[in-house]
This record gives sequence, structure tokens and C-alpha cells, in this order.
Amino acid sequence: MSRKIMADFHLHSDFSGDGEIPMETMIQEGIARGLSLMCFTEHLDWDFPPTPEHTAFDLDIPAYRNRLVELKEKYKDSIDLRFGLELGLQPHLASRHQALLKEWEFDFVIGSSHVTDGCDPYYPAFYEDRTEEEAYTSYFESILDNLKVFDQMDVYGHIDYVVRYGPNKNKFYTYGRYEEILEEILRTLISRNVGLEVNTGGFHYGLGHPNPCEEILTRYRQLGGEILTIGSDAHIPGNIAFDFHKLPDLLKSCGFTHYTVFQNRRPQFLPLD
Ligand SMILES: [Zn+2]
Ligand SMILES: [Zn+2]
Repeated sequence: MSRKIMADFHLHSDFSGDGEIPMETMIQEGIARGLSLMCFTEHLDWDFPPTPEHTAFDLDIPAYRNRLVELKEKYKDSIDLRFGLELGLQPHLASRHQALLKEWEFDFVIGSSHVTDGCDPYYPAFYEDRTEEEAYTSYFESILDNLKVFDQMDVYGHIDYVVRYGPNKNKFYTYGRYEEILEEILRTLISRNVGLEVNTGGFHYGLGHPNPCEEILTRYRQLGGEILTIGSDAHIPGNIAFDFHKLPDLLKSCGFTHYTVFQNRRPQFLPLD
């Protein structure tokens, strides 16, 4: 009998530029869904190219931290809350990110590629004037470009996030098609001691798979990767711990026996069985 996943390590509230739900509402729903651990990972994306919906993805870290500390105390008998960050990586920001992480004591930091070639793959413009393969490859290249200059995050977030938004999503996407670059990403992550995130947003987006897909998870494990955090990427209460019931069997079939949570930037391994 598999254990239930009790920890959601990728969550947003209204402290994130694209979030509208108060942190306390998210926490109450997490408790109602039986979680014992929630890590908020609010967005900070410096130099995010302005779009009609979002002019900036800045984060008021002091206000965020204060509110989290307050709610951590208020709900301490019901749930354990952690202070995390989802950092939007771009190579030119590496030294600023390094300084930021020295300044603040986060429990957990996700590094994510949200902006590649000056554009978020969320927008159709990302796929204009090139093939899907070129667009997806350029997204994967951005991960390597970021890893060359910055490896201070605990995990890399949703490494095949781009397939959520391509015109054909994951219809023609396979590990084999992008094997060369994906192998290089996985080997680089392991050699830099950066873990991988499994993000159930892929189920929410109708891909039928998490991000990254099972083939990437399997290969990461085969290459010796052990650090694997689990997150729903929920911005609304209804998506907290989204499809987590699918994960114990899915991750075991990819070769994992444990998943990972973080406190004070240190990994702790929890059994899937
Ligand atoms: Zn993200
Ligand atoms: Zn996120």
C-alpha cells in the first residue's frame, strides 16, 4: 500500500504577481485536503517582459515573510508551513540572485525558466516563425544557459513547462526527440547537486502527465538523481495537491523509493511506501 503524499512544495498566493488568493485561504484548504506540510514558493521574476496581464513579477519579500511567520504560528497545531521562493531564472540575473539568497533564509528555492528569448512560452508569440521543435529546443537550451551561471537553487522547476503551451502541447513530444539536450540537462543537474521538481500542473493542463514527463523522471533516477520534490503549482485552492494520489505509483514505476522536502535549504527524504 502506497503512502499518501502529505507535502505540497509548489504553491502561490496573492503575494505572487499572478495570484489572487490570500495565503490563509490556501492554508485552510491545504489542511482540509489532509496535507501536513505546505511550502509557499511565491514568484520573483526580475526583468519579466511586460505583457497585458502582468507588468511585473516582483515580490515584497518582507511582507511575504511576515505574513508566513504569522500564519505559521496561528496554524502550528494543524500544519507545518515553509518559506519558499520560485525564482525566475535568466542568465544575466545570476549575481543578483546569488546576493538575494544570501540575504534571506528561505526553506526552499525553486529555480524556473519562465522567460526564454525574451518571452514566456505561455504566450503564442513564443512559437511564431519557428517549428515546435525549434521552440521547445530553445526552451531546453535556456535551462542549460541558466545552469552554466547559477546553481544555488534546490531544484529546477517544471523542466518541460514549454510543452504545456505549444500549439500541439505534448502530442508530438517524446523524450527520444529531445534526448541529447535532456540528457545534458539531467547530467548537469546531478553534477551541480540541483534536484528536480515533479509538478502536477501538467495534469491540470490536460497533458495526461506531470512536468516533467515520466521518461525524464526515469532517466534522472537511472543517472543517479535522488532529490525530487513534489508540487501542484496551485494558484487557487482547488488545485492544491492536484492529482497527488497518482504520484506514489507513478514515481515508483520511475524507480523512486522516496520524495524530498526541504527545511532551511536542507533535503529530507520521505518514503513513498
Ligand atoms: Zn513556474
Ligand atoms: Zn509556480
